[in-house]
Amino acid sequence: MSKTVTIVGIGPGEQGFVTPEVSAAIARATDAVGYIPYIERLPARPDLVCHPSDNRVELDRARHALDLAAAGGDVVIVSSGDPSVFAMSAAVFEAMETPSEDWADVEITVLPGITAMLAASAAVGAPLGHDFCCINLSDNLKPWDIIERRLRLAAQGDFAMAFYNPRSTSRPHGFEKTLQVLKDECGDNRLVIFARNVSRSDQTIRVVPLQDTTPEMADMRTVVIVGSSKTKIVQHGKQDFVYTPRFYEVAER
Ligand code: SAH
Repeated sequence: MSKTVTIVGIGPGEQGFVTPEVSAAIARATDAVGYIPYIERLPARPDLVCHPSDNRVELDRARHALDLAAAGGDVVIVSSGDPSVFAMSAAVFEAMETPSEDWADVEITVLPGITAMLAASAAVGAPLGHDFCCINLSDNLKPWDIIERRLRLAAQGDFAMAFYNPRSTSRPHGFEKTLQVLKDECGDNRLVIFARNVSRSDQTIRVVPLQDTTPEMADMRTVVIVGSSKTKIVQHGKQDFVYTPRFYEVAER
């Protein structure tokens, strides 16, 4: 009886971005729990029982995984990207706040993965090459006021920023407001990167000055990176790279 829960991140899409540790955990699992499209990305195996579930049921999914492990399973909980970036690992620890006695001897491990913003950053160069922050634009689990305050302060702090869950059909206006906050706080020429389906065969990446951005440029398959005031484009042959320098000019005293 193994009784393990391993919370894994399977990266943004490309198979080569799955770490060997995560592949090994999936290979020895008896059960896989996760959101339907992530479960569909697992290599099929007759002795792996898959338990796909709908989005927005993270706590139930976490409890289900812990129950399966308590009954003797080796359970992987699958997230895309990294499991701690707006994904399942926090949900498992939230479930532990009201534990079942059966879970006492379940061993829990978190295995990291390549998160969407890092794959997107690498695809264009190094826009996250200096201080940056990362904001989930979904107001499903936190009030919009907090999101807007963080956006404004991050812009005032001149951080580069990465936005997850930028715009969905049920939340069409949040990203419009986000662009407005950025237009209030940053110059027109601030570089914005829309990276959709990063590391997949249908990857598309657009680099657009802030003044030319529109809300429709983002959807739920897009991670958005906003440069700092220092972020710029450098040319190499026929290629353009976007990067944020590592240093600030220090004013002479
Ligand atoms: N745990 C995931 C993030 C889950 S939140 C991770 O670490 O990447 C879901 C959001 O992640 C999406 O709305 C999108 O903003 C981003 N995302 C996930 N995979 C992506 C991909 N392949 N390309 C672009 N954005 C992606």
